[in-house]
Amino acid sequence: MPLPVVAVVGRPNVGKSTLFNRMVGFAKAVVHDRPGVTRDRLYEETTLMDQRRVLLVDTGGIEPHTKDDLLTSMRRQTMVAVEEAAVILFVVDGKAGIVPADEEVADMLRRSGRPVVVVVNKVDGPDQEDLASEFWSLGLQTLVTVSAAHGRGLFELGDAVIAALPPAGEGESLEDDEDGPVRIAVVGRPNIGKSTLVNALLGEERHVVDDAPGTTMDPIDSKLVVDGKEYVLVDTAGVRKRARIEDVVERWVSLRSIRAIERCHVTILMIDGTEGVTDQDAKLANLVIERGRALVILVNKWDLAKGNPDLEARDLTDQIAQHLPHASFATHLFVSAKSGRGLHRVLPAIDAAYAEFDKRVPTPVLNRFLIAAVNAHTPPQQYHHPVRILYMAQTRVRPPTFAFFSNTPDGIGPAYRRYLSNRLREEFGFAGTPLRLDFVRRRKSGEGRGDDDEAPVGRDEEVDLPPDPEASEE
Ligand code: GDP
Ligand code: GDP
Repeated sequence: MPLPVVAVVGRPNVGKSTLFNRMVGFAKAVVHDRPGVTRDRLYEETTLMDQRRVLLVDTGGIEPHTKDDLLTSMRRQTMVAVEEAAVILFVVDGKAGIVPADEEVADMLRRSGRPVVVVVNKVDGPDQEDLASEFWSLGLQTLVTVSAAHGRGLFELGDAVIAALPPAGEGESLEDDEDGPVRIAVVGRPNIGKSTLVNALLGEERHVVDDAPGTTMDPIDSKLVVDGKEYVLVDTAGVRKRARIEDVVERWVSLRSIRAIERCHVTILMIDGTEGVTDQDAKLANLVIERGRALVILVNKWDLAKGNPDLEARDLTDQIAQHLPHASFATHLFVSAKSGRGLHRVLPAIDAAYAEFDKRVPTPVLNRFLIAAVNAHTPPQQYHHPVRILYMAQTRVRPPTFAFFSNTPDGIGPAYRRYLSNRLREEFGFAGTPLRLDFVRRRKSGEGRGDDDEAPVGRDEEVDLPPDPEASEE
């Protein structure tokens, strides 16, 4: 099960992004080492009220700047939301009151039957509560008043969203499906060759395996068996037969891609060899890395490069290094989905990336590594206090996640985190998979759980404390 999507819709200037940042800001306690990844604030994973993990999406930001009038762009936003969201937050401006576009959107939402929470924003104080009353006329079931700017009403909002969500699914995280087949998502801009690739990979062996319930346009997964080994290509409905809505939405990084990425172990990112690397490719690569999935890059349409002196593999490789620097861990292959050239290397590359994504390094080996790394390059001091990293452990796979236990996790800056991440790769490989590094305050023995602010939220339970090499010092 993918994370449920909570989509934020509403006219410009009603306060969607303010609200989005508020809702995400509350939960941002985990610091991952994802150097240089520009935070795409349009999509954020967040935990509501410490209870439910959701993917919060600002649909207002999904649209490129177009010449569309307000109504057209509102209709599109709403279509995306209805298509993909488990719950829709319809944000309206309490100070401005109801405008015709609000009524039209409310109409679409009512007809869709999706759970909707009307969020009357800019109700900045208790004396302004009556600003909300006219919005009941929109005819939607749930309404809360908030002030995104002042942080008012957010608990009520969190409660309302949780109440509207479907019951928590089993296995909302990948760790739970230990032994299933490798799940592969194919993403890329429109017309890049996704359908051609999927069809080529599936060939005659096309089996539809499951439809995840609860969405209007159900994702359809296809099973692929090669040499007795099973794979699942996720959401092949989206790539095989393009529905009408897809055309509208896929102009931008579609929610569909995000959900496919969520549901896979390994993402194939297709880029166009004749056009080179675009901003949108970089966005998609960042999404894959942020979601912590393994990555294989396919440079497609390479048949067109033959006899074209302007197209050289070396240039493409340089472009990838330059425009997708965060994805430097990923293999790239030159292929032609249409002619089939190079496709025999795709599944082996997937297998290799998955193996690294699922790789576990034993704790003693890691701690020898840590001693050497710290000796070679000591962490900078903080306020004249030595910053010590006492020991480390790999707390998870898929993707490999490491906890570094330190007396002062805050004192370990981005440069040093990058150093550790690079050293890990030099030492252990991990080609094809992103890594996560958590920096955790070491709990002294006998100390309760009360004051471990630095412990990563939601991961804390997972941390399997190795024997403390310095316990005798305390
Ligand atoms: P968006 O276009 O819907 O994403 O709206 P923004 O989040 O950019 O906000 C639009 C404007 O409304 C900004 O000037 C915000 O400061 C303001 N705003 C947002 N939330 C509130 C609020 O709760 N109260 C008041 N008074 N202003 C707000
Ligand atoms: P999608 O929108 O990403 O699913 O792209 P499609 O698979 O529908 O392909 C878009 C167009 O590109 C179609 O006309 C394909 O025949 C063509 N195409 C796909 N892969 C290749 C390729 O490797 N080489 C060439 N020359 N054309 C390709």
